[in-house]
Amino acid sequence: MANVNKRALGLGTQRSVIRELFEFGKKRIAEVGAENVFDFSIGNPSVPAPASVNETAVRLLTEMDPVALHGYTSAQGDQLVREKVADSIRRRFDYPAKAQSLYMSTGAAGALCGCLNGLLERGEEVIVFAPFFPEYRVFIEGAGGIMKLIPADIDAFQIDFDRFEEALSPRTKAVLINSPNNPSGAVYSEETILRLASVLTEKSKEYGHVIYLITDEPYREIAFSGVKVPFVPKYYPNTLVCYSWSKALSLPGERMGYVLVAEDMEEKEEVFAAVAGASRSLGYVSAPSLFQRVCAECAEDTSDISVYEKNRDILVKGLRDIGFTVVEPQGTFYMFPRTLIADDVAFCEKAKDFNLLIVPGTGFGCPGHTRISYCVPTERAERSLDAFAKLAASYNH
Ligand code: PLP
Repeated sequence: MANVNKRALGLGTQRSVIRELFEFGKKRIAEVGAENVFDFSIGNPSVPAPASVNETAVRLLTEMDPVALHGYTSAQGDQLVREKVADSIRRRFDYPAKAQSLYMSTGAAGALCGCLNGLLERGEEVIVFAPFFPEYRVFIEGAGGIMKLIPADIDAFQIDFDRFEEALSPRTKAVLINSPNNPSGAVYSEETILRLASVLTEKSKEYGHVIYLITDEPYREIAFSGVKVPFVPKYYPNTLVCYSWSKALSLPGERMGYVLVAEDMEEKEEVFAAVAGASRSLGYVSAPSLFQRVCAECAEDTSDISVYEKNRDILVKGLRDIGFTVVEPQGTFYMFPRTLIADDVAFCEKAKDFNLLIVPGTGFGCPGHTRISYCVPTERAERSLDAFAKLAASYNH
């Protein structure tokens, strides 16, 4: 075995369910044609970025001094970019964000790693609620922390507060939430956020140290039918927001996001410095310069996300008619129905016989469920219902 870091080697050689589904899909496409393979495995936005993104990029490439445009920005991001983003947050959420509270990052992933490495000492605990984005475990353990998983409230995918309060202890350093949620599509209600804030305030006092709330929000704008996504720093002062332009602006490959350290955070300057220091030690300095500027100018635009709501409506109704139990997603482009048998891994394996590529819930900390990523063309979502019906029928005899 190579003389390398064992954890890193383990991560680099681990099998990935989604990658295997992708490979399987490629094989099936060659056999039966792309139109007959229903790939619901990956969370890559299916609609293009709005025209404003290209227009802004072209304008910047044409008008800006190329040395400045392609040069390093400050480690924490270009000052003008941070001012524009702070201004947009102030206007949209009626929250007094300042430029110096923003650290421009490479997507939500870079933002989360900056926060976790900035906050955690070895062995400290971070509470995560199932179902959860599987990379959280990698990020938390990479920062020397221990992930404590709270089982899901499978009837609504809000927070099971009894189990949450049982899990809190003096070792709890942070709580990590994700709303709108991958994989359930749930949006935490204002009531949930208020209760969470109240528990954290009380427990921080009891333990004599701050419990930080990290809120991972790459899907913030993808909320349906007027559902409100509470702006968490307004409810709890010791909040760090991890935002990304990957999803609502359809720019996952451009790797742009930010950390916002809440304005009334205790010892805010030091917390910001720790996030900046951790980002530096991870090599996340000076996020991509062109796309910092593009995202700042297009911060309030989105791609045509209405297609996701259309797909949600078609699939929720269609799947329920077939006999699936589905909590209606309020946002994102994921849904998380219960599998028709308890063994979600076997269920998703069986689905492949019908060219349906769906991901077992086990990897999201919630067995007995499957994630369907419906960022696909609407006609494909419609046609997939026949394949789901055949999959269901295969269990009826
Ligand atoms: N957090 C969640 C919940 C996600 O679903 C994703 C990507 O799918 C990320 C973070 C990482 O996003 P980014 O592409 O901005 O790094």
